[in-house]
Amino acid sequence: MQIKTEQLTDFINEIFVTAGASAEFASEVATHLVEANLKGHDSHGVGMTPAYIQNIQADLLKPSAEATVHKDNGAVMVIDGNFGFGQVVGRQACDLLIERTQETGVVVAGVRNCHHLGRIGTYAEHCAAKGLISLHMVNVVGHNPVVAPFGGRERRFTTNPFTCAIPRKNAPPVVLDMATSAVAMGKVRVAYEAGKQAPEGALIDHEGVATTDPSVLFKKPVGALGPFGNHKGYGLAVMCELLGGALAGEWTAQPEHERSHNIVNHMFMMVLDPAAFGGLEAFQHEADEMIKYIQSSEPAKGVDRVRVPGEPERESKATRLDTDIPIAVGSWQELIAAAETAGMTSARIAEMTA
Ligand code: NAD
Repeated sequence: MQIKTEQLTDFINEIFVTAGASAEFASEVATHLVEANLKGHDSHGVGMTPAYIQNIQADLLKPSAEATVHKDNGAVMVIDGNFGFGQVVGRQACDLLIERTQETGVVVAGVRNCHHLGRIGTYAEHCAAKGLISLHMVNVVGHNPVVAPFGGRERRFTTNPFTCAIPRKNAPPVVLDMATSAVAMGKVRVAYEAGKQAPEGALIDHEGVATTDPSVLFKKPVGALGPFGNHKGYGLAVMCELLGGALAGEWTAQPEHERSHNIVNHMFMMVLDPAAFGGLEAFQHEADEMIKYIQSSEPAKGVDRVRVPGEPERESKATRLDTDIPIAVGSWQELIAAAETAGMTSARIAEMTA
C-alpha cells in the first residue's frame, strides 16, 4: 500500500504523543522516521515504531529525556543521551557540538546512552547544513549480537553504522551512511517473511558457510549476518564497536553487559569546520572538481550514471514524495497494533488510517 507522507507523519506523531511523548519530541521522531522511509531506508523508518512503543512501556526508552553534558574539555566532550529518543538526544548532541566547533574548529565527542538513533545520516546532514564535516562511528547494544566476525561463525556484534558527510557550497552534501553488516537486519526479515532468498554474501549458516537462506537468522541452528566487504568491512565494524562502544559509551557488545530487547546506540563523533583548516575556498573547489570528475566516469554496462554517496537517498525522496511511501500490509498492521498498545482509541485509529 502507498501512504501519503503527511498522513504517515501525523499517525506516527500521534502514536508517540499517546504513548507519553511531548508534541515537540513526538514530531521530531515521526519526522525522522518518515524521512528514512522517504530516503529509501525502510528498515530504519516507521517500522521501528512498535519497538519504540514497547521500549517506552518497558521503561527502556525515556520519552522526556534530554541530552546532558557529562564531560566538557573544550574540544573533547562526552554527552549522555539518558536513554531518550535517539532522534531527539542525537540532534541535541549535534547542536552542542556544532556550537562548540564554531569556537574550536574541531570537536571529538562520545555521545552515549541514546535509544536507537535511527538513520545516522540525519545527524551528518544536520552538521553539513551548518557547513561542517562530521564523522560518526556507532555501536548497537542492549540486545543479542547478530553479526559474526570475519572468519567466525558465532555472532559478536551488531550492524555498527559508519557515516561521514562533506558539505558543499552550492550543492547537496556527500553523505556516506552505511551499516557495516552486509545488509540491514530488516532487509533479511523482509526476505524471510516474503519467502525469498537473501542477497548473496550477506549470511552464513551455523557452520559459518555462506548461504542465501534468510531463515538462518530466525530458526535454530542459528547462523549470522556477515560484515560487508569481508575482512575490510569487518575491520571497520570492530573500530565502530571500539570507538562507539568502548570509548564513547563504555558499553560494547561483550557479554558482561545486560541484553534485553533494548536498542541502545553509542556514537563516536568528530565535527570539523573546514574553514579552520585554512583554505575553505580551496577545499570547496577541490571537492567540487573531484566530485565532477568522479561523476564524469563512463557508466558501467547496464548502469545509467555514476552517483556519489547520498545521491540514491535524494533520488528516493524525490520519487516517494511523488508516489507516496510504500508500506507493506504486515507493517501497517503492526503500526495499528502499536497505536492500540500506546492507548489510541479504535475510532481515532480508524480516522487517522482511513
Ligand atoms: P545502503 O547500503 O543502502 O547505502 C550505503 C551508502 O552507499 C549510502 O551512503 C548511499 O548513499 C551509498 N550508495 C548506495 N548506492 C550507491 C550508488 N549506486 N552510488 C554511490 N553511492 C551509493 O545503506 P545501509 O548500509 O543499508 O544502511 C541503511 C541505514 O541504516 C543507514 O542510514 C544507517 O545509518 C542505518 N543504520 C542504523 C543503525 C542504528 O543502530 N541506528 C544500524 C545500522 C544501520
